[in-house]
Amino acid sequence: MKFLIVDDSNAIALMVSEMLKEMGYTSDRAVDGNDAVKKLEADNSFDFILLDWNMPNMSGIEFLKYNYENHLTETPIIMMTTENKPENIREALMFGASEYIMKPFTKDIIESKISMLNQFKKVA
Ligand SMILES: [Mg+2]
Repeated sequence: MKFLIVDDSNAIALMVSEMLKEMGYTSDRAVDGNDAVKKLEADNSFDFILLDWNMPNMSGIEFLKYNYENHLTETPIIMMTTENKPENIREALMFGASEYIMKPFTKDIIESKISMLNQFKKVA
């Protein structure tokens, strides 16, 4: 499986890509929402998108809204966030996020969310 990691932090993007590599997955990285739009316009074959909330230029929620209006991709999006306010989580889910994980997270947490979403894809 191929992941698009969208995060402005080099350290977090590297950590997540290492976790995915250990699970046997490949990844590409976008530095913000604008970059993610460009990457997805060029290649829409990702299996999952891991999306940060706080980013310059285009934030995670702005990316979700852009995607909701422009139908850029139907790839499942997992929000990676420190936002734990219920209204923020609700807004992200309303604009198309499939799941969210709280930072900081472990490999096991990513792995369980992915297997849950894969189960859902098989049923749908
Ligand atoms: Mg960030």
